[in-house]
Amino acid sequence: MRVLLVEDDAMIGASVRQGLRQEGFALDWVKDGVAAETALACESYDLLLLDLGLPRKSGLEVLRGLRRDGASLPVLIITARDAIADRIAGLDAGADDYLVKPFDLDELAARIRALLRRHAGRGEPLIRIANLSINPATHAVLLDDEPVALSAREFAVLLALVERPGAVLSRAQLEEKLYGWGEEIGSNAIEVYIHGLRKKLGAGFIRNVRGVGYTVPKSGAA
Ligand code: CA
Repeated sequence: MRVLLVEDDAMIGASVRQGLRQEGFALDWVKDGVAAETALACESYDLLLLDLGLPRKSGLEVLRGLRRDGASLPVLIITARDAIADRIAGLDAGADDYLVKPFDLDELAARIRALLRRHAGRGEPLIRIANLSINPATHAVLLDDEPVALSAREFAVLLALVERPGAVLSRAQLEEKLYGWGEEIGSNAIEVYIHGLRKKLGAGFIRNVRGVGYTVPKSGAA
């Protein structure tokens, strides 16, 4: 899952980036509103983490532009403690949730998971497909109730595919979800992760759609 962080405070930005990367998110960080709009136009993000007081263009303006353009990605605003009016304006401009600084990184990660869940139309925190159960919070994966050990990247590929069962994701789309700016991507990295997942979850769980990409069918493997 790829997150764009827009935050001009160097310390907060660095700690959020580190914390969310440890949670397995791919994270890009920009420090002003104009750079945020450029990033949003160029990349495909699963969630936007938006400070409101920003140089060059305010977070509220970025948010209004985004919603005006029809973008539906979840937006979580992060604001100063005394800025209640800003938080209300943010929610009314199309934000989905907010956190007040200083915030706890575990709470931030939990709120992000909740927003992604809601955005995917799920109420249940566990994702279940056929005989597989996936916990996005703990990264635990159970196959027929037996734990399966996946690498962090394998888990990220699996999560991207099961978040919307039946959707076909190309290699480029999977790469986008796994890697932030400046992270090196091996030329056949995605194939390697898919191969690893098939070995651990069964060969039929992830299907190839020739010339398009990969998919996990809604009902799981036949
Ligand atoms: Ca700020």
